[in-house]
Amino acid sequence: MPELPEVESLRRILARTAVGRTIERVRIAEPRLRRKVAHGFAAGVEGRRILRLGRRAKYLIIELSDGAAMLVHLGMSGSLTHRGIDFDAAEFAARHDHLEFALDDRTRLVYNDPRRFGLIRLVPRGELPSTPELAGLGPEPLSAAFNAEYLARIARGRRAAIKNLIMDQRVVAGIGNIYASEILFRAGVRPTRRAARVARKELERIVAASAPILRAAISSRGTTFRSYRDAEGQPGRFAPRLMAYGREGKPCRVCGSLIRNVVVGQRASFFCPRCQR
Ligand SMILES: [Zn+2]
Repeated sequence: MPELPEVESLRRILARTAVGRTIERVRIAEPRLRRKVAHGFAAGVEGRRILRLGRRAKYLIIELSDGAAMLVHLGMSGSLTHRGIDFDAAEFAARHDHLEFALDDRTRLVYNDPRRFGLIRLVPRGELPSTPELAGLGPEPLSAAFNAEYLARIARGRRAAIKNLIMDQRVVAGIGNIYASEILFRAGVRPTRRAARVARKELERIVAASAPILRAAISSRGTTFRSYRDAEGQPGRFAPRLMAYGREGKPCRVCGSLIRNVVVGQRASFFCPRCQR
């Protein structure tokens, strides 16, 4: 599932390539996503110019002229690619293209979501902060609001596993399974530990590990996995740098112990039995 680094990479590419373009035509090949694409969607988008690209948690926010914004979530397997005339279509499964935005420079933005857990909808820009998808989100992990003081306050008395806590979008927004595993590895904390039992020093390490890992992943345009492609149709390059995620049975890159996989909150959770306590 695309997490903060993947969506942020996408935002940065589109900020370079799509801003200033006018959406001339919208083609909806498959309206059934997590929520059905609304009836007036195409009419509400056509003729509007792309002003700015924003992001909140795992949501991409495409700000349009006349006070509108498109809220985009890539779900489990979605992608939004910006295809020029030279786009290598053979590299990409066009079968699942759901929405296509034809831009005034003859390029196309294509939303593709094979598992259809994504979401795309038009929201008046002024209503973004109160829209149900964004209203309850916790602070951004790259913001000053996500600090040890805050995490300690949240963790107090919580029986949930620490990994579930940092994947909870109401606690901190944008971290999912991959980066939670990586952050806990770097912090030396096992994913299964009860949040309330994690010491203040360890919470400080979790916060301190978050930004460098997310930033490194952003600069690699995210992690390669089955279906994530960035706006140029390229997979991310962060996978070779993963320390824990997806490495079950492989030697830890720090100590050589074999990485283990435990299920926490129904999600595979990878950790090093020696580096993480
Ligand atoms: Zn280790």
